[in-house]
Amino acid sequence: VSAGEPQAIGIDVGGTHLRAALLDKSGSIVQVVRHNLAGRTPEALLALLVKARAELKKTFDAIDTLPMGIGLAAQIWLESGTVAVAPNLGWHNVPFGKMLADAFGERVRMVNDLNAIAVGEAAYGAGAGCKELVCVFVGTGVGMGAVVGGEVMEGADGLATELGHIKVGPLDNGRLCGCGERGCLEAYASGRHLPDLLAEKVAQGLPSPLFDAVKGKADKLTAGAIDAAAQGNDAAAAALWVDITEHLGRAIGNVVTLFNPSMLVLGGGVFAAAPHLRRACVQRLQQCAARPASTHLQVRDTTLGDDAGIIGAALVAFHPPQSERRNRINKLSR
Ligand SMILES: [Zn+2]
Repeated sequence: VSAGEPQAIGIDVGGTHLRAALLDKSGSIVQVVRHNLAGRTPEALLALLVKARAELKKTFDAIDTLPMGIGLAAQIWLESGTVAVAPNLGWHNVPFGKMLADAFGERVRMVNDLNAIAVGEAAYGAGAGCKELVCVFVGTGVGMGAVVGGEVMEGADGLATELGHIKVGPLDNGRLCGCGERGCLEAYASGRHLPDLLAEKVAQGLPSPLFDAVKGKADKLTAGAIDAAAQGNDAAAAALWVDITEHLGRAIGNVVTLFNPSMLVLGGGVFAAAPHLRRACVQRLQQCAARPASTHLQVRDTTLGDDAGIIGAALVAFHPPQSERRNRINKLSR
């Protein structure tokens, strides 16, 4: 196999668009196409995947022979490929794995987007060669992926390491998360909830020149704007940043205590746009993590950017982790 010859297809489905790519054996992107999501239904996404594949087929005719990995911000049942919940798409219990298999055959694998990103960063990115790595992205939601002993950690059902949905608030009357549950970390510390969270601070009587200036318009209350305001005289923004720093610092610090990774890779739109918040969170997580487990910890930013998810999804499809091995063990024991 020569360099440049496609070995796998990697696809990253984001909140607004998808990117699909052919990758060669070195993990390099040979060809990439990008499409805006026309609709959020399973049928609309499937149609877009068919279209993207047809475009890639112009570059590589034998595309049907390649494994295909699709990274999705979702909780996905490993065996069935059913999407339990995908907050960005508004999906609950969608049998998308079956739809994909019917359309493209058996060599298609869905993977949680942060699991894909962790695999990509551990293979070719910030943690190249690293066998114990944790990725935490704070963007629209809060996501985490972990590589443990060189393999992505999936859990029994593929639902492990869902950091965004650990409970940090009351279960009965806590904030409502996009997953449908209450009290999730994501509902207290992600981009999607920033406008509401700031509005709550204002409702408590804290002054906010930012909130007043944009008349509370949600699309103007971005992570970047709040980050800048929090450095000035915006008491509501500053108080919100203290809350979020505490939530994320504790949660990520606890992950370090639990996983003892050699590297923590941080990314996502909120951290990218809000450097002051990112710095405060790193300081807080280092205070919160148990000393021994964090002694050798390196904290880095993502280096592959948007490509990490594509590369990781392709790698997971090309070299299926635990599930495949478990099937092999099941066969041996029969
Ligand atoms: Zn949740």
